[in-house]
Amino acid sequence: MNKPCPCTSGQPYQTCCQPYHKGRIPATAVSLMRSRYAAYALGKIGYILKTEQLSARQPDRRKAIKQFCQNTDFIGLQILAEETLAADRATVTFRAILGQQGRDASFTERSLFEKRDGRWFYIGPLE
Ligand SMILES: [Zn+2]
Repeated sequence: MNKPCPCTSGQPYQTCCQPYHKGRIPATAVSLMRSRYAAYALGKIGYILKTEQLSARQPDRRKAIKQFCQNTDFIGLQILAEETLAADRATVTFRAILGQQGRDASFTERSLFEKRDGRWFYIGPLE
């Protein structure tokens, strides 16, 4: 099994994001970003939830993610920039190339990541 990783790194899933989905801790915010995108593409909702610490998590977050995963084609991910703000704070600017019902649903986001107890978490988009 050498299927390409859904994060479109060009690497096989087996050696790219799968180890993170199986429990390896991403060393960088970018690795976490890539593995979260791949998790969206594969519908791994548990991984998405456990790698984020949203300031105000909606009670129906799991359902919303599931719906988003089901209704979206995950075409590609481009990492545009990464910035280290501190040892435990970083931003990643990315473009998610997505389709929804045949329409382009791509977007660009600059996201904040924080490291807590040795693990990176997705905090949310920055203005
Ligand atoms: Zn990957």
